[in-house]
Amino acid sequence: MDEFELIDQIFQRPEGSASQVAIGIGDDGAVINVTAGKQAVVVMDTLVADVHFLESQPADSIGHRALAVNLSDIAAMGAVPRWATLSLTLSEVNEDWLNGFAHGFFELAGRHEVALIGGDTTAGPLAVCVTVGGEVEAEGVLRRAGAQPGDFVYLSGRIGGAAAALSSNEGYADPVLHRALCWPQPRTELGSALGRVANSAVDISDGLLADLNHILNASGGLGAEIEADSLPLFESAVALLGPQAALELALGGGDDYELCFTAPQSRHQEILETGHRLGQDLFRIGQITEHGGCRVRGTAIDLDAISPGYQHTWPSSIS
Ligand code: ADP
Ligand code: MG
Repeated sequence: MDEFELIDQIFQRPEGSASQVAIGIGDDGAVINVTAGKQAVVVMDTLVADVHFLESQPADSIGHRALAVNLSDIAAMGAVPRWATLSLTLSEVNEDWLNGFAHGFFELAGRHEVALIGGDTTAGPLAVCVTVGGEVEAEGVLRRAGAQPGDFVYLSGRIGGAAAALSSNEGYADPVLHRALCWPQPRTELGSALGRVANSAVDISDGLLADLNHILNASGGLGAEIEADSLPLFESAVALLGPQAALELALGGGDDYELCFTAPQSRHQEILETGHRLGQDLFRIGQITEHGGCRVRGTAIDLDAISPGYQHTWPSSIS
């Protein structure tokens, strides 16, 4: 299969001709219909084999993940995703792998009505780079900046599961933790619904403490008080690693792709109703304070040992 057959047979799909796509795959560039009155949001994330995923990991989960991490950024901006481009660097042309990759990618793209409009295909060490474009009304843009003292802090789901899956072979074999690591579910509906309710948002890729710190810094050097007891941990992470280690991974592990956001206390009911309407569990985990830094109450964990921005690598021992 040469490069053009590969694009034709695997990546050129009828879904790519959705209404927003004027010209899709097959020309020198794609042309997109833009909605009058909206702003475009563009995000990009690169995944390198054995850094961001294991080459031995099922191909469909790699396709899913490459798109999911980008949709998560779109969600954190309060936008609705519309199109994607895909740059693939392949160490070999393995049709089974490519079909698996495409299956994972298009299954998620279909659920979020995202059209693949173009890309690039080159030979080299396996890496995947995805760009996603979305739209948002100017008043609905969510930013890291905007948190206010007194805001409640929320999470869109459980955290620490991906890091627990990476922490041991037992963790990787646990179906719930494995799913958290390999099949993150981007919170796009929630993100766009929060646009006019929340003050600030970030998606958790580097760990709660590191990413919440982005909100605190961008919002002018605020602080946060998080209640350890209110952090939604994965039961299987607690069972496997014990409560202390599970909590450490929730605070510093990363790869969660849940939204962390803040909203005025007066909007708490609205936040709960939004979660309820979307069938999305939301967890209130603490409050924004005036003075700098993030404190976690109810634990003896040394936060300095965790934050900021702990970045894991994928141990090659896990298969
Ligand atoms: P050019 O030589 O102009 O860069 P290419 O031959 O690289 O064009 O690509 C031809 C068409 O196929 C373009 O529309 C491009 O966007 C698309 N394409 C290339 N690789 C991919 C891919 N991995 N996924 C989706 N579309 C792709
Ligand atoms: Mg060209």
